[in-house]
Amino acid sequence: MTDLERRALLGDRQAQEECTQQGVLLPCWKCGGEAEVNELHTGGKPLYTVACQKHYCGAYGAGSSSIQKAIEFWNTRPTLPVGRCGECAAYVDSKCANTGYYKSETGFCDDFAPKEDI
Ligand SMILES: [Zn+2]
Repeated sequence: MTDLERRALLGDRQAQEECTQQGVLLPCWKCGGEAEVNELHTGGKPLYTVACQKHYCGAYGAGSSSIQKAIEFWNTRPTLPVGRCGECAAYVDSKCANTGYYKSETGFCDDFAPKEDI
């Protein structure tokens, strides 16, 4: 996985946009599996949607008449509390450098950045 993809998975909107522009499909939001663009034949204009390749998973993105848009729907996901303060680059001397508040090492926030990025 590239750094760009990792940032996109962490909820970085700009990274998600760059992935979309490059036609990169982020892994499935439900199972982590590989995704693919599907063309649905609806009888009218083609409809595209990104879906998980694992059929038992069943994860689908919203459909669009544009492949690019379908990829954008799939790649856009919210920031998740994926890291603990103790592992965050902003965590210095028991404080969060972003907010100035004292935080527990086991706390979570929605602005997590891994230490190795800095
Ligand atoms: Zn899946």
